[in-house]
Amino acid sequence: MIALTDIEMSFGELSVLKSVSLRIAEGSVTALIGPSGSGKSTLLRCVNLLEIPQAGELVIGGDRVTFVPGKRPERDAILRVRRQTGMVFQNFQLFPHRTALGNVMESLVTVLKWPEAKARARSLELLDKVGLAHKADAWPAQLSGGQQQRVAIARALAPAPKVLLCDEPTSALDPELAEEVVEVIAQLAREGTTMLIATHDLRLAANIAGEVAFLDGGHIVETGPARALFANPIKERTRQFIASLL
Ligand code: ATP
Ligand code: MG
Repeated sequence: MIALTDIEMSFGELSVLKSVSLRIAEGSVTALIGPSGSGKSTLLRCVNLLEIPQAGELVIGGDRVTFVPGKRPERDAILRVRRQTGMVFQNFQLFPHRTALGNVMESLVTVLKWPEAKARARSLELLDKVGLAHKADAWPAQLSGGQQQRVAIARALAPAPKVLLCDEPTSALDPELAEEVVEVIAQLAREGTTMLIATHDLRLAANIAGEVAFLDGGHIVETGPARALFANPIKERTRQFIASLL
């Protein structure tokens, strides 16, 4: 399980996450929805400690990190948390001077110090899983946006993270290319990959996610099973936001 409890995150004077608590069960997919600026990206970045909250607690796998104002957690604790998370960004962020295969192999070779042959074999398996075994030797610039995002997903999965964090994984893509990425994420969901996905894409939020959390102004307004939350939101604010997505 991944648990965030009473997370407070500010940038200087600007309070962005306000006592945010969220639980993500192993094997579940949670969609994080909410207006622009509500804090979705910041919340994802707090799970892999790209941002360090000022207060609250993060539990991931066997690790528990407690946040105290003005005190950075120990470097080892941060690295342990990072290694349990994989991140997929809106704009892919592949290494431009590595092939598709090289992108997927990178962390296995440089961080986990796997032997080259083992890293290559695992990376080819992952490229195959996202339907891109035939593009292993292509450079990012030679790939469509949807293909680049699928490579980015394979890269994020390479070290077998406990959770895949996806920040608007389809929003930079044309509908058809977005569909390829949605299909890959749907397949991962069926295989029981734990995912937290910030998204405006109803295919992801309403069809693939089992759980939804609605964030507004740095507060979690409502969480619940996706079907129930979309069909019958409890809070008026949630209802308004969902109406704006349709
Ligand atoms: P979008 O849907 O547009 O991606 P979001 O829900 O992901 O929005 P965030 O990017 O988390 O929102 O931003 C939340 C708030 O925090 C915004 O007001 C933003 O300007 C602010 N913010 C985010 N990162 C920083 C930063 N590094 N320094 C200062 N302010 C920041
Ligand atoms: Mg964002």
